[in-house]
Amino acid sequence: MSTIDLGFVCEDHLNEDDLKDFECSRMGGPALFLKPMKDPVLCNCGKKMQLLLQLYAPGPSESSFHRFIYLFLCPNGACQTTGWSKGIKVLSYQTTEEDDMAGLLLDADYVCQYCEAREIEVDSEPGKEAEKAEDIDTSNIKIEENDTKEQYTKAQGDVAFLKFQKRLSREPDQVLRYYHDRNNDDALWCSENGKVTDIPACSCGAKRVLELQVLSTILAHLNIDFSQKDALDWGILNVYVCSAFCDKANSEYAEELCWRQEFSSQSILSVE
Ligand SMILES: [Zn+2]
Repeated sequence: MSTIDLGFVCEDHLNEDDLKDFECSRMGGPALFLKPMKDPVLCNCGKKMQLLLQLYAPGPSESSFHRFIYLFLCPNGACQTTGWSKGIKVLSYQTTEEDDMAGLLLDADYVCQYCEAREIEVDSEPGKEAEKAEDIDTSNIKIEENDTKEQYTKAQGDVAFLKFQKRLSREPDQVLRYYHDRNNDDALWCSENGKVTDIPACSCGAKRVLELQVLSTILAHLNIDFSQKDALDWGILNVYVCSAFCDKANSEYAEELCWRQEFSSQSILSVE
C-alpha cells in the first residue's frame, strides 16, 4: 500500500467560505491563522514573504490533532539559494482537539502575488504499473562526448533525473508529494547534485524528517515571468519537520526546514 500522497492544484479559485475552512489545503493566500503572527514573516533581505502553500496535516498525537504547515516564499527570486534556502520559510502550528477553532482569521498580508487561492487536492500515489517512462538500466547509459571524466559526471546526473522523470510519469500533474512514513531515504531527487547530507535536529532534540516535497510542476500554476533573471525557480523543495511533533508548535509558529534542490544543467542537457 502506498504511503505517499500526491497533491494536485484544483482549477476553481477558492471563495471566502472555502478560505475559512481550515481543513482545506491550498495554494496561495490569504493565510488562515489560528492566532495572529507575532512578527511578520520576513526574508533576510527584509522583504515580506508570501504564502505559497498552506496545508492541513494532522499529526498522530493529541497535541497535534489539528496541524498546519505554511510555506512562505520571498518574492525576490535571488534569495532562493540552493540548499537550506533563506528565501523560503516553513512554519508549523498545531493544536489539540479541544482547542477552540473559532478564532481562525484570514490574514491578507501574505496574499501571493503569483496566484489566486486554489485548493490542493490529495490522492494516493499510483503504483509502479502506472509509470510511462521506459525502464532505466543505469549501467547502460550512453554518452556521446569524449572527455571521460565529464562523461562520468553526466551519467551520474542522468540517473537521478531519469528516475525522477519516471516516478513523475505515474501522475505528471502532481505538484506535491506527502510522505506519511516520514522516512528521509524516501526523498525523490531531481539530480545527483545538491542532495542534503546533514539535517539539523529540532530544538527539542528530536530528529527532523521529510514530510513533503514541493515539485517544480507547481511553478506552471504561478504567474511568473521566467525571462526575468531572478524569477522564482527550483527543482524540488524538501520540507523537514520535527519527528516528535513537539509542543513548540502548540505555543508559537515553529520554524521547520526547507531544502532546495535545482535541476542540474547536465541532466537537462542529457535528455535533449
Ligand atoms: Zn521538536
